[in-house]
Amino acid sequence: MNLWFTEVQTKNVMLSLATENLLHIEKTDYQELAVIEHKDLGRVLFLDSVIQTSTRDEFVYHEMISHVPMNTHPHPRRVLVVGGGDGGTVREIVKHPTVEKVVLAEIDERVVWAAREYLPEISAALGDPRVEIRIGDGNVLVRENENAFDLIIVDSTDPVGPGEVLFSRDFYGAVSRALKEDGLFVAQTESPFYNEDLIRRVQQDLSAIFPVTRLYLAAIPTYPGGLWSFSLGSKKHDPLDLDERDFRHCATRYYSPAVHLAAFALPPFVRQIIGV
Ligand code: SAM
Repeated sequence: MNLWFTEVQTKNVMLSLATENLLHIEKTDYQELAVIEHKDLGRVLFLDSVIQTSTRDEFVYHEMISHVPMNTHPHPRRVLVVGGGDGGTVREIVKHPTVEKVVLAEIDERVVWAAREYLPEISAALGDPRVEIRIGDGNVLVRENENAFDLIIVDSTDPVGPGEVLFSRDFYGAVSRALKEDGLFVAQTESPFYNEDLIRRVQQDLSAIFPVTRLYLAAIPTYPGGLWSFSLGSKKHDPLDLDERDFRHCATRYYSPAVHLAAFALPPFVRQIIGV
């Protein structure tokens, strides 16, 4: 099939994937959703022509957005995931035996449907009895809760469209109120090569609200620039304070205690972005 999907990363940089097989495409109420098969990357989920996840490299993103904060908290029992309708982040969270409840707040029910239909290895844990799926705006759900979660993870699309509100200082204030007194928060915050302003602003906003603010990185080949950032705000626990016995050992392919600590070692050009 001679069909290419192109993600426009900047005005001058694009990533195009040759489609082996177009499995599904539709316009949902929120975005254009497509799932393709690709020779090298396996199955790939696109939303509005932006790569969300590929079965080849999804483990890096999903392990790093979840195990870093999960291990930073000594007993994470109640976790909220905002976005993340593919289920990959939930799959990693339920590997932790401390977890009693995971609420997944995904705005677009068609993403959950498509993940169940076409990405079973990513969505497998959505049926776990500890998981509650709430279809709706995560911004609204966060504001309905107070002192309710040990951890809130924002696994969202880019800061445009329905995901935009999830990158605002006002939202981070609501997140802080929805967290328990020793809770913490993590969000994917895009590429240090292409999104310097966003990363700087999120770090500034988080440090106005949380006593502990950190930035960490992971290598994700299908995301713009290949190097991805995650911003963490914590009321008490510091991800850099962990020692070997604090880690709960789960089956992972990218994350490990050594990778956890190394991910916070920022190259000078990234330190410069956030002024540390
Ligand atoms: N790993 C991905 C990335 O960085 O490209 C994100 C994956 S996940 C599929 C993102 C999800 O966030 C999408 O399914 C989208 O529908 C959802 N989303 C965007 N804005 C949202 C909001 N305000 N509330 C809840 N879910 C939202």
